[in-house]
Amino acid sequence: MNIILLGPPGAGKGTQAKLLEDKYGLKQLSTGDMLRAEVAAGTPLGRQAKAVMDSGQLVSDDIIIAMIAERIEQQDCRNGVIFDGFPRTVAQAEALDKMLNAKGKPLSAVIELQVDEEALVGRLNTRIAEMAEKGLAARSDDNEETLRKRLQVFRDQTAPIIPYYQRKKTLRQVDGMADIATVAAEIEAVLNNGNPPGNGQQPRP
Ligand code: AMP
Repeated sequence: MNIILLGPPGAGKGTQAKLLEDKYGLKQLSTGDMLRAEVAAGTPLGRQAKAVMDSGQLVSDDIIIAMIAERIEQQDCRNGVIFDGFPRTVAQAEALDKMLNAKGKPLSAVIELQVDEEALVGRLNTRIAEMAEKGLAARSDDNEETLRKRLQVFRDQTAPIIPYYQRKKTLRQVDGMADIATVAAEIEAVLNNGNPPGNGQQPRP
């Protein structure tokens, strides 16, 4: 079963992806985490990506698509993947479809977490304040100005993938403003009764 969690930055995709990993034995692939690992390791790709990430813009499709193409071939992805933060452009969505169709394992569902943008800004400021209280540093792209930029980039470059998946009838929408457990339950309902159905994989007991 391959799933995409779709939604603007801060919508809770990562949190829900982690829950799905445990429940269904899938692998969460976050392109943001993969890029941050490259930055931390100081690789040429990481050095190139850092400035783009800090500005809230998107890293180029070629880099991202190559990174995902290599990653999904690894052993830990054999049961299926939860894509988190990918695809972010129509070109990425098209490339993903090609890759998964070539493997004979197309997408089971694309789940859009619908959220209120102003509430996201509020959540971010709460998180920054909580981290500062604990003496922890926020991510370098974790500030209100960059979030607003990233929300704009989402509207301009990522939102067009919503009609793309609507046309393919794989898109399902879930209220991302509910609490974590409620969102998780709604996602599970979509995966169990969703249209189109998954590949029959059931949650772990
Ligand atoms: P995230 O942690 O998913 O919010 O990603 C952090 C940053 O990494 C984004 O603001 C982009 O600069 C970059 N990034 C992550 N995923 C992608 C992607 N699929 N395409 C382009 N850039 C990405």
